[in-house]
Amino acid sequence: MATEEKTFSDFKLNKQLLNAIADMGFTKPSPIQEKAIPRILAGQDLFGIAQTGTGKTAAFVLPILMKIKYAQGNDPRALILAPTRELVIQIDREIKELAKYTDLRHVCVYGGIGPKTQIEEIQKGVDILVGTPGRVMDIYLKGELVFKQLKVMVLDEADRMMDMGFMPQIRKFLEVIPRKRQNLLFSATLPDKVVTLSEEFLEFPERIEVTPQATPAKLVEQKLYYIPNFLTKINLLGELLADEETFSRVIIFTKSKEHANNIFKFLSRKGKGETRVLHANKGQNSRINAIDSFKDGEVRTLVATDVASRGIDVSSVSHVINFDVPVIYEDYVHRIGRTGRANNTGTALTFCNPAEKYHIGKIQKIIRMQIPVEDLPANLEILPTTKEERQKINKEIDHQKRRENPGFKGAFHEKKERKKDSPYLKALNKKKKSGNRKNKRRR
Ligand code: AMP
Repeated sequence: MATEEKTFSDFKLNKQLLNAIADMGFTKPSPIQEKAIPRILAGQDLFGIAQTGTGKTAAFVLPILMKIKYAQGNDPRALILAPTRELVIQIDREIKELAKYTDLRHVCVYGGIGPKTQIEEIQKGVDILVGTPGRVMDIYLKGELVFKQLKVMVLDEADRMMDMGFMPQIRKFLEVIPRKRQNLLFSATLPDKVVTLSEEFLEFPERIEVTPQATPAKLVEQKLYYIPNFLTKINLLGELLADEETFSRVIIFTKSKEHANNIFKFLSRKGKGETRVLHANKGQNSRINAIDSFKDGEVRTLVATDVASRGIDVSSVSHVINFDVPVIYEDYVHRIGRTGRANNTGTALTFCNPAEKYHIGKIQKIIRMQIPVEDLPANLEILPTTKEERQKINKEIDHQKRRENPGFKGAFHEKKERKKDSPYLKALNKKKKSGNRKNKRRR
C-alpha cells in the first residue's frame, strides 16, 4: 500500500516559495527536505549528514527564505558558509531561483578576485550572504559587514571546510556573531573534527541523516540505454513491452506527471496490457486501487512518478524501467529496489538522454558501480529530436557544465568535443554495425 507521501504544501511555506518550487520542477520533497524543513522552521539547530545530490541545499534554503520573508534593513540576517567558490555560486543560484518571487537580496562572495564589486553589492543591502569563510572574514575585518542582525548561520560541507583548514576562521566567526541564532551544520561524512565542530557550534541539535544506500539490491540486474530523445524512448518502451512473457510485471518511472500521462496514453493506445498511472494528482483511493490491481496481477504496467516509489511493496516485479533518470540520486536506489524483492531476481533498465548522462555519472558514484550499457535493439527506429527538446537538452547540459565549472562559456565552445565522445553516436554506430551483420546473415 502507498505510504502517505509528503508534498511541499504540507510544510508551512508561502505561495511565493511554492510557486518557485513548482517552476523548478520539484514535484515532491526529497528525504532530507522532508526531515529538515519542518525542524528548521520550528527553530531547531540541525546537524544534517547528507551528500550533494540529496537536495540538501533547498532543504536549508527554503526554510531560511520562509523565516526572513522579505527585504529588511541593510545587514545580513542569514549567513551561509561553504568551502569553495563553486559551491558558493551553486548555493547562490539555488537561492536566486527559489527566492525569485520575493524581494530578498542575496550576495555571494569568494576569493580569487578582488573584493571591490562584492563589497559594493553588500553596501546596497543584503538579507542572505553566501561565501567562503576566508573572504567573508576579510570583508568583515574591513568593516564592511555587520552581523548584529544575524538570525541563521549555515556551515555547508563542513567536512571539506575542516579539510581545507577553515577551522580558525570559523572559530573567529563564532566570536563575532550574535549568540542567539539558529545554527545549521551540513556534512557529507562524519570525521571526528566535524563532531567536535558540531559540539561547539550547535545547541541541542537534532541530527538527521540521509545515507544513500551504497549498494542497490543485489538481485537486481541493471542496464543502461543511451537514447537520444523522448520519442525514441517511447519507441524502445513499446519494443521491449512487446515481449509479454519476459516483461510480465513492470513499473515505469518518470520524472513528471506529464511524462507519466503521455506514457500511460501511449501504452493504452498500443494495447500493451492493462496499465495504470500513479502520481501526486491522483487521489489516495485511486493510487491504492492501482497498486492493489498491480499486486493482484490484473495490471501489467504501472506508470509512476517518484511519489509512488517508496510506497510500493509488490513482490515479483519483473522489470523497473527508469524512463527518465532520477535527479534525486537516492531515488535511483529506491526505484530499482522495487524489483528483486523477496529473493526474486529482477531487472532495472534506465533510459538516458544526453542531458541525463550527467546524473548517471553522479548515480554511479553513489552506488559505486558502473551500470552496464546495453546496445539499442537493431530494429529500433531512432526518431529525430524535436527542436524544442534539443533546445531543452542543450540548456540543461549548459547548466550542468556551469555547475561544475562556473567559468564555463557556453555550449558553442564545447560542441565539437561533445560530438567526439558522444555515447549516443557510439551506440548508434554499434547498432548499425550489428544491424549490418544481421542483414548479411539473413542474405
Ligand atoms: P543538492 O543536493 O542540493 O546539490 O541538489 C541536487 C539537485 O537536485 C539540484 O539540481 C537541485 O536543484 C535538485 N533538487 C533539489 N530538491 C529537489 C526536489 N525536491 N525534487 C527534484 N529536484 C530537486
